[in-house]
Amino acid sequence: MAVHASRNVAVLGATGSIGASALDVIARHPERYRASVLAAGGNVDALLALCATHRPDHAVIADEALYARLRDGLSDAGLATRAHAGMAALDMLVVDPDCHVVVAAIVGAAGLASTLAAATAGKRLLLANKESLVLAGELMIAAADAAGAEIIPIDSEHNAIFQCLRSRQAQAQVSRIVLTASGGPFRGRSRAELAQVTREQAIAHPKWVMGPKISVDSATLMNKGLELIEAHHLFGVGRDRLDVLVHPQSLVHSLVEFVDGSTLAQLGLPDMRTSLAVGLGWPERIDSGVGGLDLLKHPRLDFEAPDLAAFPCLQLAWEAMAAGGTAPAVLNAANEVAVSAFLQGRIGFLSIPALVEDALAALPAVPADSLEVLLAADAEARRLTEHNLAGHLSA
Ligand code: NAD
Ligand code: MG
Repeated sequence: MAVHASRNVAVLGATGSIGASALDVIARHPERYRASVLAAGGNVDALLALCATHRPDHAVIADEALYARLRDGLSDAGLATRAHAGMAALDMLVVDPDCHVVVAAIVGAAGLASTLAAATAGKRLLLANKESLVLAGELMIAAADAAGAEIIPIDSEHNAIFQCLRSRQAQAQVSRIVLTASGGPFRGRSRAELAQVTREQAIAHPKWVMGPKISVDSATLMNKGLELIEAHHLFGVGRDRLDVLVHPQSLVHSLVEFVDGSTLAQLGLPDMRTSLAVGLGWPERIDSGVGGLDLLKHPRLDFEAPDLAAFPCLQLAWEAMAAGGTAPAVLNAANEVAVSAFLQGRIGFLSIPALVEDALAALPAVPADSLEVLLAADAEARRLTEHNLAGHLSA
């Protein structure tokens, strides 16, 4: 029997939905994996509770004002875990030789620096933070390839494609990659019906339990748009070989069609622990806690085309991908600002695509060969969209 040295895993975004799933899988294999770094944005109490359970070497809170609470909480609990604050601490811990695997599960562009640091340091990178690939996909893939980092996508669709390809890059023999989409909570609604939907309705996803930002992205279909761009970078395929199919049961997680007419799909219950177990164990298969799929209990698999008129975010993402350069960074940044305003009850649902469209129109794509250019586009799109919010505020 093979003997495995225990692998130290940094879980970035530990207090979130993906973080919880990752820690669940890690805890099932104490002889193989240990959570050595836990990092969160601002929820210091949740982070302290996780430290008490998982006893990591390091805990990081991004909000520097919370450093003392983290440090004192750890020492009050009698834990040897070292407290850190700020994003720079995160980047330092991720590149440390003691860290073997990085679960990149921070939400939004806030995850870019640590994800890029892990790629540059040649780590095994379990990549959930799709926004970092949308923002700087070329740089991220180039950094990973140069350093020999193994990127294993955690997004269920990309994890499915990864499994069907059995590697990260699509071979020339792949004729089409089809991302499935649940359609979100508003599948089948017309654009007019979407004008009045509420925050609570938008985050009540029919199939997946996720953080609020990605839940809204699933409701607008921007999530699928971000995933197209993610797939483009991960698998090296252009628009001509990418497609989206709505599949409300969320059991087929994506499909790969080959030039010989064969299509491979990956199926399973909608539970992110499967993707995380693939990421941790690959090329081995390890227990994830997710049961097998009983197709007699789930005998129906339906498929339909996405409604681009009702869900223009998907179309905007296609266009940003085709424009390339800074366009995906602008799309992502405008979307983050708009979704945050929607979650705060400041704007209506249809203002999200309107604000993204305005940002893309006002900031035409320019070639992006450096991180500086991309970060400048991100900042400019945020500033512009914050400004444009004024014209959309709810009564
Ligand atoms: P979440 O909102 O539940 O959790 C986000 C985590 O990021 C939290 O731990 C939070 O503390 C942390 N965070 C936020 N801002 C931070 C900052 N500035 N610095 C450090 N940490 C910060 O989100 P989630 O649903 O777990 O999603 C995380 C990422 O995974 C997103 O990019 C999302 O698109 C992707 N993803 C999630 C799912 C899912 O099922 N939840 C599926 C596919 C992809
Ligand atoms: Mg997904």
